[in-house]
Amino acid sequence: MSFDRPSGSTGIQFAGLQARSAGRAVRRAGAAAVGLLGLAAGIFFLAPSAGPDLLPQPGVDSAYAEPAPERDASAAPQSPAAQRPQLAALSDAASNEALLTEPYRVTLTVARGDTLMAMLTDAGLDRPQAHRAIQALADVYSPRKLKPGHSFDLTLAPAVGDRPATLQELLFEPDAARRVVVARENGADGPRFTASAIDRPLTTRLARAGGSIESSLYVAALDAGVPSTVLGDMITIFSFDIDFQREIQPGDRFSLLFEEKRDEDGAFVGSGDVLIAEMTVGGKQRRYYRFEDSDGFVDYFDGEGRSVRKALLRTPVDGARISSRFGKRKHPILGYTKMHKGMDFAAPTGTPIYAAGDGVVEVAGWNGGFGKYIRIRHNSTYKTAYAHLSRIDGRMKPGAKVRQRQIIGYVGTTGRSTGPHLHYEVHKAGRAVNPQGVKLPTGKVLAGADLTRFQAAMGEVETLYAQAEPLSGVVVAAEDGGSCTAPAVATC
Ligand SMILES: [Zn+2]
Repeated sequence: MSFDRPSGSTGIQFAGLQARSAGRAVRRAGAAAVGLLGLAAGIFFLAPSAGPDLLPQPGVDSAYAEPAPERDASAAPQSPAAQRPQLAALSDAASNEALLTEPYRVTLTVARGDTLMAMLTDAGLDRPQAHRAIQALADVYSPRKLKPGHSFDLTLAPAVGDRPATLQELLFEPDAARRVVVARENGADGPRFTASAIDRPLTTRLARAGGSIESSLYVAALDAGVPSTVLGDMITIFSFDIDFQREIQPGDRFSLLFEEKRDEDGAFVGSGDVLIAEMTVGGKQRRYYRFEDSDGFVDYFDGEGRSVRKALLRTPVDGARISSRFGKRKHPILGYTKMHKGMDFAAPTGTPIYAAGDGVVEVAGWNGGFGKYIRIRHNSTYKTAYAHLSRIDGRMKPGAKVRQRQIIGYVGTTGRSTGPHLHYEVHKAGRAVNPQGVKLPTGKVLAGADLTRFQAAMGEVETLYAQAEPLSGVVVAAEDGGSCTAPAVATC
């Protein structure tokens, strides 16, 4: 579990004593004594400048690094004399009792290396109680499946005297569809914990969105209500055809049909599959359909049943800038004119490099002026090579199989190089060719029964597309290639 630091890292969120804190959550450090912290914050509110003798735990010290936000001028006496009324109030038996027993909530966020036992005992529970709560949880959710970033809401009654904090309820949502509650019950033979899991019914509906790109695809997608996961899928689908760094121009358009998951209140909780993805870039329109073939292989295909997947990626790094093209140039280090047999992509050291296509590693290691170097043989015609790497992935050994878009290494500046970049070469039948100009062989083409099934599926999904309600205010492409705004109708 992470301790909360002023820097804002996640950890315990203390939101106790709502009545006194006007409902505001107070972020605090000092997770080791959070039970006492609730108590301490209450005292601190009543007597903010009370001496350290009133502040119960050493582990709480850092809690006072930031002032309690609830404190207002009237509750913040300036002199010891002015404190007395508040201290007197605190000693009043009734308010003291309320202060000591009022349940409060903490949110614990799992960090790498945390165990649930350690998190619960850090929150003030004794080990037997924490153990029973974990056992109860295990009936419906294995604590082994906990991941960093998961968080729990605990409702605790504060520790009083020798009695440790008592857990009233533990609430946990492992994912958008599931809610797990561990609750305390007072049975005949003392308190025990029971766990229940509630599966929230999620509905999947189809959403249609599209737009015209004015400044960037990202902004246009956001404006059209496209979830970031769907935008990521769209970029992957078109990554074989479109160079997103360089080719997108104002006026280019996109259109999508995708699954949305919503909870019972209608709130968006996540996206599912993209069923149709279309982009019109530089006047060229491409429309692709999701399809699972008879081998169970899911891919996107154009209207003729050709896979979007090409044999080779044009750009084997994301977010890079072309710093030198293929062709004759004055060599930056050697000084004389020399053929540049590849393309250079400038990118920060450590940027992942992808295998441009499926294949087998031929060379992986130091190669003179190329520095750390990898060469992959894709088929009898094509090979690709990658130079000046900072690091080669450990699995890249001669003979190793690689998959397209698998990370093979990282950008660097080893060998004869002036700065961090990837030097990328495509070899066709033994000769270096321009990676930009090369007519890349296409991937799979559906045929026979698969093609028949695909055509039927395409017809169905086109009907769904026509019926789907566009997300509000989206611009959809009209049949004539123009566009119009259609906030509420499916076609225009
Ligand atoms: Zn180069």
